[in-house]
Amino acid sequence: MRLQYLGKNHLHWCDRCHVPVLGKKCACRASAREVSITPPGDARPAFPSDIDHINSVYRDYFGVPLIPEGHLVVLNKVPDKDRMEEIVMGGTVVGAIRYLPEEKRWEPLPRPSAALYMNPGKKVVVVDSGAIPSIREKSASVLAPGLVAIEDSVREGDEVFIVDRDGACIAVGRAKTDAATARTMDRGAIVRTRKVKNATCIPGTATWDDAVRANEDILSRVEEEAVTFIRNVMEKHPIQTNVSYSGGKDSLATLLVTLRAAGPLPLLFADTGLEFEETYANVDDVANHYGLKVIRTDTAKAFWDTMEREGPPAVDARWCCKVCKLLPIKELIETEWGECLSFIGQRKYESFKRMKSPRVWRNGYVECQVSAAPIQHWTAMHVWLYIFREQAPFNILYGRRIDRIGCFMCPSSDWATFEYIMEEYPDLWKTWDDALNAYKEKHDLPDIWIEKALWRKRGDRDEDDTGSYT
Ligand SMILES: [Zn+2]
Repeated sequence: MRLQYLGKNHLHWCDRCHVPVLGKKCACRASAREVSITPPGDARPAFPSDIDHINSVYRDYFGVPLIPEGHLVVLNKVPDKDRMEEIVMGGTVVGAIRYLPEEKRWEPLPRPSAALYMNPGKKVVVVDSGAIPSIREKSASVLAPGLVAIEDSVREGDEVFIVDRDGACIAVGRAKTDAATARTMDRGAIVRTRKVKNATCIPGTATWDDAVRANEDILSRVEEEAVTFIRNVMEKHPIQTNVSYSGGKDSLATLLVTLRAAGPLPLLFADTGLEFEETYANVDDVANHYGLKVIRTDTAKAFWDTMEREGPPAVDARWCCKVCKLLPIKELIETEWGECLSFIGQRKYESFKRMKSPRVWRNGYVECQVSAAPIQHWTAMHVWLYIFREQAPFNILYGRRIDRIGCFMCPSSDWATFEYIMEEYPDLWKTWDDALNAYKEKHDLPDIWIEKALWRKRGDRDEDDTGSYT
């Protein structure tokens, strides 16, 4: 697995304002300390629905929620088998949640600093004072002789808090045995302690408006840079100009800076026919709100025709981007304008390929289009704070735990997202399930092709990224 920062880590925390700051200095003039997060490092705000979800995962497991009322939380997606998110609060990672596709459940992975916020009632192991130094300093396992008490619900493989006799948290780890067996043991390891760096965690309440204020200068600076970039590119390419709009946050932020730099421009929307209703609604909302014309391609038929011929798109055979986005866009540009300049919400923090992409380019499939990325260097956090500052109408799917806007059945989605869509959007999912079943019958494929979602990947080829078209 490639583990690499796709840019500088901008995420810092102001302990006076209790907010994330995307630089070393908060607007309050206090210096902000860097928050150590796992690469690639494209952290984003947690919405109330994200916090409810995290709290329910922690409550089920430990008997109490992780996140207290009124605190700002930042999420950071971490490369994992399916889906894993680091949870930042009080200026440090207090834990994570990870989806286990085989068991169809989320698992909490707390850090010791989580014990500052929560007082776990379940999955707790109490150790004797003599055992504490080696556990704390050397991440030694909890051994049977050092065990004072173990809570009833602890099973082998469970995440547990290791606490002293007064209930203060010393470490976290994974149980190597269940509670009943542990009590009968007089030797051997009971918990494998997880090695975690010491972290400063300073809780305190704040709002996202506070965070916007704290980042005022930083946001003005990145905005200014983007505006200058847009004006320069337009000067160099005096052709019809538009903003590529997908209904996602990155294209919304791109639109906002473009409005500032160049005034109203038409929106270019590639309608794959596979968008969520909420996305169509957002495209209309944004167009109305800013009084912009929407030029759209309609490619639903192309998708289903190709699906019948080639089978469903897969991460290593993503024909959908070419068939549903690039080619129809090319055709539309050629008929409407001959050629054009499009501002696109591509960001380097999205992927390794995008990190290496130039800021102005022509896609090999769409040579009549000059693409330019004003927010190439922004993190998701810059994007969100900017959207909050502008009070722009963003897609409500973000508030419903869907953080990647696009075709609902994108093969690049994680399984956690699919499970969520099946549950929350059963009718929408049924259209896809029916299509998969029809293809399966016709080609005599086994049931697991659908059950285990084998359609998502065909071979061992690397992810196909022709679709660098946000
Ligand atoms: Zn501050």
